Amino acid sequence: MSKLNIVLLLLVSLAIYNCQSSEPESAEISLVADTTGFEWRTEMFADVQINRYLIPGWEKLSTQQRKLVYFLVQAGLEGRDIMYDINYRHNLEIRKALEHVYNNYGGDRNTEEWGQFQTYLKRIWFSNGIHHHYSMNKFLPEFSREYLDGLLQASSVTLSQEALQAMFDPEKDSKKVNLDSDVDLVLESAVNFYDPDVTQAEVEKYFEGITDKEDETPISYGLNSKIIRNEDGSIGEDVYKVGGRYGAAIEKMVEWLGQAVEVAENPAQADALKLLIEYYQTGDLEIWDQYNIAWSQAIEGDIDYITGFVEVYNDPLGYHGSYETIVEINDFEASDRMKVLMENAQWFEDNAPLMDQHKKENVVGVSYKVVNVAGESGDASPSTPVGVNLPNANWIRSNYGSKSVSLGNIIDGYKMASAGGFEEEFLMTNEQRQRSEKYGSLADKLSTALHEVLGHASGKLEPRVGTPKETLKNYRSTLEEGRADLFALYYILDPKLKELGLVPSDEVGKTEYDTYITNGIMYQLRRLQLGEDIEEAHMRNRAFVARWAYQKGQKENVIEKVQRDSKTYFVVNDYQKLRDLFGQLLKEVQRIKSQGDFEAAKALIEDYGVKVDPELHQEVLDRVSTLEGAPYGGFINPRLVPVIENDQVLDVRVEYPDDFTQQMLEYAEQYGNL
Ligand code: ZN
Repeated sequence: MSKLNIVLLLLVSLAIYNCQSSEPESAEISLVADTTGFEWRTEMFADVQINRYLIPGWEKLSTQQRKLVYFLVQAGLEGRDIMYDINYRHNLEIRKALEHVYNNYGGDRNTEEWGQFQTYLKRIWFSNGIHHHYSMNKFLPEFSREYLDGLLQASSVTLSQEALQAMFDPEKDSKKVNLDSDVDLVLESAVNFYDPDVTQAEVEKYFEGITDKEDETPISYGLNSKIIRNEDGSIGEDVYKVGGRYGAAIEKMVEWLGQAVEVAENPAQADALKLLIEYYQTGDLEIWDQYNIAWSQAIEGDIDYITGFVEVYNDPLGYHGSYETIVEINDFEASDRMKVLMENAQWFEDNAPLMDQHKKENVVGVSYKVVNVAGESGDASPSTPVGVNLPNANWIRSNYGSKSVSLGNIIDGYKMASAGGFEEEFLMTNEQRQRSEKYGSLADKLSTALHEVLGHASGKLEPRVGTPKETLKNYRSTLEEGRADLFALYYILDPKLKELGLVPSDEVGKTEYDTYITNGIMYQLRRLQLGEDIEEAHMRNRAFVARWAYQKGQKENVIEKVQRDSKTYFVVNDYQKLRDLFGQLLKEVQRIKSQGDFEAAKALIEDYGVKVDPELHQEVLDRVSTLEGAPYGGFINPRLVPVIENDQVLDVRVEYPDDFTQQMLEYAEQYGNL
């Protein structure tokens, strides 16, 4: 078995937070062969490993295109501090003080406590704050409060009592995003989208008051603001814009974007960038929509990007967007492979196991590309998604289309940096392992394409049903990701894929089922600490899909729980019956979304997607401890170096730094805008 195939499998459940079911497109084998000696993984600390990625094809871009990439990456980095502040109100104060200590402390740097201090600071850099990027739980320093006091004093820097308490008191703001349906989601979430004393009821009432329910093209209410309490006690919004909240950073972003306009590849791209600038200047969400329409339709260039206050996963109520930037270079060869799915989108919709009234008559504007990342920042860095599907506004998606990208070189980076034996440890039979070895990579690529291209685009709401955000609330993301996964699972074993020449046999679908079930029920638990519930939306969706199928198929033994050599395996006995179960659940999940059935969403997710069997969990933790690699990965960005003459950027070179700490300090220095 090739080493590449082993690591491909591990990817199935890597750190994927952005609308992404599994390891997707673009295993550029050639890339691997060309880069012997490239250091893919630089270090590990706590539960993460730091990787690197390459930018393939940089030399093939024109000088103008390289400049465009550079300006966009710079614009993105200027907003880096915003994400720290969004994640938690004390993050920037803490990060800056600790960076100051790191740069200035003259005492002993060889002690155990200094090592713990370094690890804590690296974890902050990795998570853009003091809460774990994935579990959302606050992580605590291993060094003592007294030790920190000494460091601060010796480095002539101070921290407020509040910030110190935030660092050391395990009870204070312990969770960044709390999705427990029994609590006040706003009060119990530390994320800085709301003033600390604002309640969920107040927020809901506020948005109720400003939302126009008749509007068929509603703006994304609250997307670019913090909810604050005004002096008279009422609730208001502090908007992110030039001259507003985060204005110092946004101003610089706008400057770089202005330079990007000058080197845009075509008028459509330039027009979109101009709208983006106008939006940052005004904070006007109508312009944000205009921008998104323009951006969705600007599909001609080789360079693209995602930027702004975009994904709402960090808001327990799903209004406010987190800041992120991803700058992308198209990978044409890999994208072509997905075209065939796009061209057949309507067939898949028509033949889906949905109630007729929930099928779309016309699937519009589905676009899926494989791109290579040239730089990331904000919520997308150092931990990065491997695929993104935007814009988020439903009416823009259905009227103007959307862009779905798979981040090819990031996926390659993960593959090359990972090592270990998921399949050896968690697949029971030789048949399963061999199948996975042979077809696992293709299964991953295809299931991701099905999820992104067809899954998210499928289905429609019944008339007069509110948006999923209104009806399904905190269960919306989990349900939506489950829906897209189920669409992919249902179709990956469909004979149509053979007919279209996308798979050589059913073996591809079978290995996807083996892996999905094993991951959803067992393997992904490695990301949790003993005693924790499943919180993150994608983990919940994989759990509810896999465990529902296991339970519903028990009578016919569709999936069997097997104990062998005191290890547990979940083995699929009947792939066709499992496919049928996935189809049934897809129909039900689509019904829940189409009808806005909150109670059914809650029951499904709470019953199957949240609780963890502690015995099984312990077993998983024991078994993964023998595998190499950390549960989470993130990346050092390449460094884009401008060649400057007479204040003009003539060209841009790429360097590949290999020191995570160095890059974080460099960023703090260059882009410390807040
Ligand atoms: Zn998704």
